Amino acid sequence: MANFVIMGPPGVGKGAQAVHIVESRKVRHVSTGNILRAAVLEGSDLGREVEAVMARGELVSDRLMIALVRRTLEGPEGRSGWLMDGFPRTVDQADSLLEMLPEVGQAIDKVIVLDVPDDEILRRLRGRLTCRSCSKTTAKTPDGGPETCPACGQDTLYTRQDDKEETIRHRLDIFRSQTRPAAERLGSKYDLALIDGLGSPDEVWQRIASVLE
Ligand code: AMP
Repeated sequence: MANFVIMGPPGVGKGAQAVHIVESRKVRHVSTGNILRAAVLEGSDLGREVEAVMARGELVSDRLMIALVRRTLEGPEGRSGWLMDGFPRTVDQADSLLEMLPEVGQAIDKVIVLDVPDDEILRRLRGRLTCRSCSKTTAKTPDGGPETCPACGQDTLYTRQDDKEETIRHRLDIFRSQTRPAAERLGSKYDLALIDGLGSPDEVWQRIASVLE
């Protein structure tokens, strides 16, 4: 059983790499963004509370996020091994995670930090479509397609509200100012691997696979 954290700016390819890690290491994918988006779709109390914040590309409060992650680690994920994706995003979240892990008898085997230059991120996110059914992302074609999700075949592709130009820049600022220091904090206690996120998804996966061995 192993536990991993994947971190990086929006659009760096965390979701695609998460699929590889989850499949090859047989761990559960804990994506806080996916959990929150599902809550918004369901219209639950949590969903109503976070909807507007997410649409602006702001961070949901540390209090809510820390409680959500604690519940997750105390549940089946905590017993089966996990890949944490989207958490921690702030130094306070990182500190809470560092405190929480020994309490639940868990540790992080590797913190994977993906990075690519900002101009590449802007290029990728401007053309990103996300599937409401399976959460996978795909690149928009020049004519605005595809109509159906290449991963699951459903016609549920949409442009995430936070994938708009202004919002992307804001999310990048948040990453640089708050999430990068959070990664460093985790790296002070656990093994951290900085991975170059440029290139094809397969090339990036080879880099990650080599540090997971
Ligand atoms: P993601 O899918 O990871 O890009 O997350 C989408 C949005 O969900 C973010 O822009 C935040 O509004 C919110 N979110 C996800 N994870 C966190 C977190 N750990 N802390 C605060 N907000 C989060």
